[in-house]
Amino acid sequence: MNMITKLNDAWILHREEIETVQDGICDVYVVLDAISGYCLEMRTSKSLLSSAEVLDLIKNSCIKSNATPRSILILKTDPLVEVVSAVCAGMNIPFSAETKKDLRPFTDDFKKSFQNLKKGTQDSTSNYESDDVSREEVEAFIPDAYSPCPCASGKKYKFCCQRAFKDIVFALSEAQEGRLEKALSYMGQAESKIGVTAEILCRYGICWSFFDKSKSDEYLLKALEKNPNHPRTNYILGINNVESKNYKNAVAFYLKAIENYPAEDKFHLNETYNNLGTAYYELGDYKMAKESWEKALILLPSDRMVASNLFHFIYNNPEAPPDVRIISPFIEKFLKRK
Ligand SMILES: [Zn+2]
Repeated sequence: MNMITKLNDAWILHREEIETVQDGICDVYVVLDAISGYCLEMRTSKSLLSSAEVLDLIKNSCIKSNATPRSILILKTDPLVEVVSAVCAGMNIPFSAETKKDLRPFTDDFKKSFQNLKKGTQDSTSNYESDDVSREEVEAFIPDAYSPCPCASGKKYKFCCQRAFKDIVFALSEAQEGRLEKALSYMGQAESKIGVTAEILCRYGICWSFFDKSKSDEYLLKALEKNPNHPRTNYILGINNVESKNYKNAVAFYLKAIENYPAEDKFHLNETYNNLGTAYYELGDYKMAKESWEKALILLPSDRMVASNLFHFIYNNPEAPPDVRIISPFIEKFLKRK
């Protein structure tokens, strides 16, 4: 079952300097999920990470999030650029080095909470008082995320699904490893924190997809009953319909997901538009495929996958109608961007 591996976003490998009690000045490398700002994995080190350590960091993030990233982004000037680029090439993950300006929208929240943590003003339950940060405290640290929740509840992520994120991540990872009991037990914890929301029902559906397709479908249906607009459920139903080659249904589900993801949620929107383009392409609708992929590109200009779809299946495809193959000057600007 490869459903989960498609739930992938871009990840950012972000570096901060901290002063720890035990080790003095250290680098902290964090793997941030671009949309949620959630820290998937973190490593503190006194010296530059080796490629084995970078590989480990990325692999652990994959295990924890139960996904491989759409791509990995890192600051151009980071001392690890070469190493990360090589590791990504080895793992077949698209990689790009970005400017500070490009990464700022995604790292700002993290930086801010990080500064607060350092100052000891973190509004959490931990009674943190020292100016120095221990390794445990850093690792237990979850960044603030004041962006709208991707579940489209209208609440901020921090006050919505983030409270259950860890349990959900563990549940998915247990499910992927084939341990249903443990997965359900983590889901039970998630449920006790945020209630039986559409997001929770949807995640139950994803867990069950590793064991029992009909049970999984049952949960996805329940999620949809709870909230017909729940974006992730619609997105997954889109993927399921593509798998069973019901492309028309897939298009309808993807459109519903797009309609309901928060406008700020560029990464999920990019991903859904990309899949929508593929569904249209399968239907032989070159015009709509082009339009969808171009929207995905505008949302995330560094997305090489969508640019290559556009070139390969539309602009350079002799099968596509000549007027559809034309690249507009507007889109050309996005294709040229690195
Ligand atoms: Zn939510």
